[in-house]
Amino acid sequence: MNLEKILDRISIKSSGAIIMGSNLMIDAHEPGYPIRIVTHIHHDHITDLNKSIRESSLIIGTPPTLEILRELGYIIPDYKSLSLDYGRNIRLDDGEFKFIPSKHVIGSTQVFFRDYILGIDVGYTSDFKDPGKGTPIMNVDVLVIESTYGRPEWLRRMKDLAEELFIDLVKQLLSQGPVYIYGYHGKLQEAMHILRTGGIIAPFLAPYKIYKISKVTEKYGYEIGELYPENSDAACEVLRTRWYILFEHLSKIRQRIMSSSPQVSHIVLTGWEFESAYRKLNERVWKIALSDHGDFEDLLNYVTQSSPRLVIVDKARAGTAADIFAHEIMKKLKIPAIPMPKTITSIKSYMR
Ligand SMILES: [Zn+2]
Repeated sequence: MNLEKILDRISIKSSGAIIMGSNLMIDAHEPGYPIRIVTHIHHDHITDLNKSIRESSLIIGTPPTLEILRELGYIIPDYKSLSLDYGRNIRLDDGEFKFIPSKHVIGSTQVFFRDYILGIDVGYTSDFKDPGKGTPIMNVDVLVIESTYGRPEWLRRMKDLAEELFIDLVKQLLSQGPVYIYGYHGKLQEAMHILRTGGIIAPFLAPYKIYKISKVTEKYGYEIGELYPENSDAACEVLRTRWYILFEHLSKIRQRIMSSSPQVSHIVLTGWEFESAYRKLNERVWKIALSDHGDFEDLLNYVTQSSPRLVIVDKARAGTAADIFAHEIMKKLKIPAIPMPKTITSIKSYMR
């Protein structure tokens, strides 16, 4: 494999765009590429999406991803939008690609690309957890992988217990008053589903945008149950009973805590908790280690099972954890690994 030839077609730009061949830009905008793929709805994967909607000829995502993007306010004209199911192959002039499922958030996908010019297979994992179980492993020549928890010490102990403890905690707190739950889009809906399947029947409330996104996830099989937009008449009735769970975006936590009564309990859903499945921050606030990413062990497992000839580690979204993860791949698995974006000169030092 000629590294420079490969990096000419497969790379991560400083914009954060993952490039595959001469047509595909993934998860950020890069001028000159006609097709924008959105792997999922998280903000660091819809970077400059409006620019892509204006300048490129096609926006491609899974059906739930495109529907939720609409709820988030993106206007993609029908003639520019392609809703692509997992496994359906799309042929281009220089290669072909398809979506491979991933366990991360609703609608999330990996991207598999067969490069006709280089004669190799390339895979981009995007964000994922549970490699080999919920997230199938792609066997490819070049693997582009996320590295959110790329440091060896970032191991999540008790990760299998978190859901159960979350359900128990909510049950217990609900007996004392309303419960507010904070997280990102996607994780909030997963939390609703976990609570419903765990037997929680209290009504759910949410701001309108979260309500609308939750309704989309319900269409795709999530159990959401009784859920009302926060300012509706039905919600006013529920508020009076003081027996309900309110779901809110993590960015609003400060305002919500300041403006709520002391009877309200607050739960933050986060991946940045390693030692225990949950932690009490003070009398009213709890943290639950409910992550939608694999930890260090999971990331390394993916690479081991995929056994690529070259790994490109996404540094645009992970910072220095990407450098450390690339180093660990080379040390433990003896596979060349490059954190990107990076310049060609510094890449050579990684290939020694
Ligand atoms: Zn994500």
